Amino acid sequence: MTLAQGMIEIDQELCKDCKLCVSVCPKKLIETSDRLNQKGYYPAFYIEKNLKKENRKCTGCGLCAIVCPEIAIEVYRA
Ligand code: SF4
Ligand code: SF4
Repeated sequence: MTLAQGMIEIDQELCKDCKLCVSVCPKKLIETSDRLNQKGYYPAFYIEKNLKKENRKCTGCGLCAIVCPEIAIEVYRA
């Protein structure tokens, strides 16, 4: 059996740094950037690439996209 896999993309220019996606991800794969976007917010970013060794994979559950009030997150399921 293979576990569900997915990935997300966050549009950093739409993000308004509410951090809902950061708190909702069960795998803790989203963090807040330390670089401002053009609107002056610190946008969320997807950190999975740094975590492959820890086996913290995105499941494609979609929770991050559902809670995002700016519709800034796209979820892709494998
Ligand atoms: S789809 Fe689910 S596991 Fe993947 S980043 Fe979003 S909340 Fe986390
Ligand atoms: S939920 Fe959306 S607006 Fe809020 S921090 Fe995440 S990507 Fe940004």
